[in-house]
Amino acid sequence: MSALRRLRRGARRAAVVSLGAVAGSIACAVVAVGGVDGAGILSASPSLPMTTIAVAIGTLVIAATIRRMQFVAPTARAQRASFWLAAASDLADLELALALVAGAHSIIAMTGGLSSPAYPLLYGLVAFAMTVLAQPGAYGTLGAALLLEAALLLRTGPTDRAAIMAAVIHTACIAGAAAAHALLLRGVTARYRRRRATRLDEELTALRDSARDYRLIAAPLGPGSRAGRGRVEEERLLTIAGVAMINDAASWVLATLKRSLGARTVALLWIEEDDALKLKEVASDADDITESPRLASAGILGAVVRDRQPILCAATKPGQLPYYDGGRAGVAVVAVPILEGPHLRGLVAADRDTPFDEADRDLLADASSQILRVVQSEQVFRAVERAKYEHERFYQATALLGRALTPEQVMETAFDAAAAIVEYDVGAIALYDKARTKHRIAAVRVRPGGEGLVDPKQLADLEFKDNAGLASMVVKNRHYLPAGGEPREVSAPIYTRKVKLDDARSLLVLPLLAADEPIGTLTLVARAEKRFGKDVREMLAVIATQVAVSLENGFLYKKMETMATTDGLTGLTNHRTFQQRFQDLLDRAARHNLKVALLLCDVDFFKKVNDGYGHPVGDEVLRRVARVLQEVPRKIDIPARYGGEEFAVLLDNVDVAQARAVAERIRIEISKVVVETEKGPLSVTESIGVAAFPDDGRDRATLIERADLALYHAKHTGRNRVVTWTEAQAAKAMAKAQPQSGGTAKPPPTARAI
Ligand code: GH3
Ligand code: MG
Ligand code: MG
Repeated sequence: MSALRRLRRGARRAAVVSLGAVAGSIACAVVAVGGVDGAGILSASPSLPMTTIAVAIGTLVIAATIRRMQFVAPTARAQRASFWLAAASDLADLELALALVAGAHSIIAMTGGLSSPAYPLLYGLVAFAMTVLAQPGAYGTLGAALLLEAALLLRTGPTDRAAIMAAVIHTACIAGAAAAHALLLRGVTARYRRRRATRLDEELTALRDSARDYRLIAAPLGPGSRAGRGRVEEERLLTIAGVAMINDAASWVLATLKRSLGARTVALLWIEEDDALKLKEVASDADDITESPRLASAGILGAVVRDRQPILCAATKPGQLPYYDGGRAGVAVVAVPILEGPHLRGLVAADRDTPFDEADRDLLADASSQILRVVQSEQVFRAVERAKYEHERFYQATALLGRALTPEQVMETAFDAAAAIVEYDVGAIALYDKARTKHRIAAVRVRPGGEGLVDPKQLADLEFKDNAGLASMVVKNRHYLPAGGEPREVSAPIYTRKVKLDDARSLLVLPLLAADEPIGTLTLVARAEKRFGKDVREMLAVIATQVAVSLENGFLYKKMETMATTDGLTGLTNHRTFQQRFQDLLDRAARHNLKVALLLCDVDFFKKVNDGYGHPVGDEVLRRVARVLQEVPRKIDIPARYGGEEFAVLLDNVDVAQARAVAERIRIEISKVVVETEKGPLSVTESIGVAAFPDDGRDRATLIERADLALYHAKHTGRNRVVTWTEAQAAKAMAKAQPQSGGTAKPPPTARAI
């Protein structure tokens, strides 16, 4: 329909109700001036004009009522177009109000005026208008009623005390009815609004709950993932959701059954483990439904449980219906079993006063299989949800392992990964050395609550040979033990007899298999019972394999890192790493106002060693020298192979004097080294140059150059000596002041490449 046509139709409707309102006003005016009265109509010879007026008013009342009932307000758009169209509903109300008041007053006028017994009709009308009509109609009714009352008083005799009294009472009653209903209406509206708001709140909460549930179904992995939720919490949430779903569905089915069977009560009963019946859900008009949900499976329902057949009973004997307090005698009952395959799950029963027939029984059977389907789909849903949850946990666990680099990191992450799968109290990883057939516990994790279960100090670095313990058996069999995850299944100790785990109720020792080769074991222990169920064991076995592969990668990573940073012959830090560490030390020293000393050491006449004893002996000498460099300084100092038979030592936060003392100790220790050779014992000496930050220089290149100059000076002044840069400078200055006759044969060394 076009907008114009709609507008036109709205205008037509508005015009009709406007005319109606005018007609109502005229009717009121006619009544007000005494257009109808009892004498004129109800007498033996009724006056024709008055009768005509009465009939017209009556017609108007009927027409206005019909029109109001059928009235459709103009469209919102039409209402926006004109104030008149917007007021159409109010005009329709007003038409009805005026017509009804005119009608009521006509009746009053005809039945005795101020003393008419028909006044309650007017009060009722006012009350009705105040409650049902919108404000203009309501106040129109009230106004018209009061005006006509005044007019009636004027007509009857404004000086008559009795008439005035009657009019006052009527006015008071009209006003009272209006006020009472306006108040009532407001109260009812407020209550209704409050109730609506509460209901809306409840609906919103329910909506939010299910929204959360649904979001869970499609939850992405991440920090918000429910994988972070504990297994127990997840189970709890799933159970609540599942039970609510079944309850909702069952109660709907029962209510529908009750309606369609015209039953007094329809009850869903579930079979307990001991064959007792439990009242799960009930739809009933009766108020004597039993309070206790557990019912004895006797009487009629007991027969259904026993025979697994539906039952139709025309009239119960006393005590036969257990879901009623008194048992209810003489009622008709139909009951059908709920069978899942061969298993009886429960039954549905209905009762009423009139007997049930086969059709009713079939309806009940259909409904009961519907309930069973809901339960089954809920079971499937739960299984799917649980699997999804496990999947997420598993994913989270493996993702964790992928991030670990070093073996230490891998082992720590392995404990986290296992915790993502299962709640355990203590975990330990033992590495297996196949060549030595030895196990060594390399990492232990005691989780909150696991304190006191085992002594972590006893476990740390515990080493043991292959024995009859679980860890050894697991490595041998390449399969986890104990098979059921319970320590009471096995009598063997986990590692050795010394390690006691008396309080553990759950235990699992898993092999760490890398390419089918056992490289160790992951042991998990929990105080609680039945922690390592079959699913968990299977998942942990896969995780353990991942741990093994990550561990192998970790070992490889460590090896490569070692290769990249250490010297193959001596095991000392290599040249590149030395430069890096030196720079790091200098940066830190500059930041914190610390000191750093550098020793450069060179074996004296090393060429002669090589030439006289052969290269392998030379190598051995280098290894022995390196060992001294490792042993003499502190752990925090850094000995490095600078190149060839030259070594460097970085001394952390040490000044030149202290560095000189360390160098002196090194020199003495090296001179004590004796290497046994085919040609007899061999000893070497070393010359050492010293320079220190910040006294002798601030940057790496300068410090290396000055330590080297000092070393050169040591070589040049007899070897097997320690010389600091300051000493070298001082000696040089002296030499310049008193030049020796021989002079220096060698030119000073050029700066080294760094
Ligand atoms: P000086 O006292 O002046 O230091 O005399 P030197 O013979 O030690 O002379 P120089 O430091 O120049 O000698 C370095 C020798 O070290 C040359 C080289 O054959 C030998 N060399 C360098 N690297 C190795 C190594 O890895 N193994 C062995 N066996 N010899 C090495
Ligand atoms: Mg050299
Ligand atoms: Mg040398």
